[in-house]
Amino acid sequence: MAQRYVRVLTNDGQIHYGLLQVDRQVRALDAPPWLEGQPIDLELTPDSYQILAPCYPSKVIAVGKNYANHASEMGTPVPQEPLLFLKPPTSVIASEGAIQYPVQTERVDYEGELALVIGDRCLNCTSTEAHTKIWGYTIANDVTARDLQKKDGQWTRAKGFDTFCPLGPWIVREINSSARLQTFLNDDPNPVQSAQIDEMVFSPDVLVSYISQVMTLLPGDVVLTGTPEGVGAMKIGDRVRVAIEGIGHLDNFVIDRESPIVKEIEAS
Ligand code: MG
Repeated sequence: MAQRYVRVLTNDGQIHYGLLQVDRQVRALDAPPWLEGQPIDLELTPDSYQILAPCYPSKVIAVGKNYANHASEMGTPVPQEPLLFLKPPTSVIASEGAIQYPVQTERVDYEGELALVIGDRCLNCTSTEAHTKIWGYTIANDVTARDLQKKDGQWTRAKGFDTFCPLGPWIVREINSSARLQTFLNDDPNPVQSAQIDEMVFSPDVLVSYISQVMTLLPGDVVLTGTPEGVGAMKIGDRVRVAIEGIGHLDNFVIDRESPIVKEIEAS
C-alpha cells in the first residue's frame, strides 16, 4: 500500500499532519510533509483523532471541461486553453463531512475529480518544472449549484458555497496515469461517473504550468483537474462516494442547511 499522508484533529484540539498506518494509527509529523515534516514521538490511536482535509490550501484552482465527454454533455466544445476558476478555502471539507444544501439553489451536482497537491512555490513554471511541484494526489468533489452556474454566467457563487469542496481522505505521492475515477450515489453499485484520468484533455503538468503563468502556487495549494461525463444531481439525504484507483475513496453526505448538525458545526 502506498504511504498515506493525512491531517488530523485530535480529541484535545491539536491539528497534526501524519502518516496513516495500516492499523489506522497515525504517526505525527512536525510539519506538512511537503515542507520536510519529520516523524515525531507521537502515535495517535484511531479513537483519538478525526480526519481533516489533508491540506489547508491558500486557494483551490479548478479546471472546467477538461474531459471531452463532459464538455459534450454540457453542450459545449472542449476549451482551446484550460478554463480556470477558483473555489474558496472555506469550501473545503473532509471525507465523511456533510455537504450543506444551500437555500438559494434547486440543483446541486456532484463532480468527482482528481486533485493535485502543490508541494513547492511555483511561478512561471514549464510543464517539466511543474511536474516536480506536484507533491501528491488526492480526491475531490467539485460540488456545483448547476442552476446558479447557468443563471450567474460566472461561477463564484455556484462553486463557492461552504462545504462545496470535499477533499481527501489522504494524499499519495504517485498515481498510475491510467487510474480509474468513479463516482457512486447511495447504495447503487453502478457508478454514475467512470473514466480513466488519462482521458483528461490537459494533463496535470500542463495545468500546473498554465496556472503558474497567472498566479503563484504555494505549498499546500490544490488544483482540481476537471470531471468526466455523468455529472448529476444530489438530494438532501444522499451519500456520494468518489473513488480513484491507487488513492481510495472520498465519502460525503448531503444535509439541509437548516439541519441541527449545521447549527452544531457553526457553533464549534
Ligand atoms: Mg469540476
